[in-house]
Amino acid sequence: TPDGLRELLLSRIADVPDHPKPGVVFKDITPLLADPAAFGALTDAFVSLCERYEADKVVGLEARGFILAAPVAVRAGIGFVPVRKAGKLPGATLRQAYDLEYGTAEIEIHADAVAPGDRVLVIDDVLATGGTAEASLELVRRAGAEVAGVAVLMELGFLAGRQRLEPGLKGAPLEAL
Ligand code: AMP
Repeated sequence: TPDGLRELLLSRIADVPDHPKPGVVFKDITPLLADPAAFGALTDAFVSLCERYEADKVVGLEARGFILAAPVAVRAGIGFVPVRKAGKLPGATLRQAYDLEYGTAEIEIHADAVAPGDRVLVIDDVLATGGTAEASLELVRRAGAEVAGVAVLMELGFLAGRQRLEPGLKGAPLEAL
């Protein structure tokens, strides 16, 4: 059941106060990754979203998004595409800057990793301010593909990432499991 899944996932996520800095409660998914029943149930739920939104590529956001999205791509039978922090991908890339609390960050995608006609589901572990997800949607669209949706394990509602992301979704769904 959806409630059962939610309870299972919540029970495998640890709150770590003051990491990586004072005032931040870090959502640690390593207990979930260590439990094949929970990790499998999460993967199945993401695969269902791929089917519902007719995705034919999965984008994972570095670094925990890689871990969650890769098994989804394999089980759904579609390609996995990494979005990485700037300077890591070896091929020709598109780069997108976005604002952080202090300063800016940049992420990249291989320019030929997605193509016009592709429908892409973007996966990450935590939606916080929404800045990372927003920038990844820009990259997917600049590379010529369509955004099928954004799917995250967890949404930190008090940071209002959903509101920030809303315009960039252009009607695509945001699903928090
Ligand atoms: P944001 O761009 O603010 O939505 O931040 C999202 C990215 O930062 C995601 O890739 C998360 O993995 C990470 N992140 C932000 N806040 C947290 C948190 N409290 N616990 C774990 N990861 C977080």
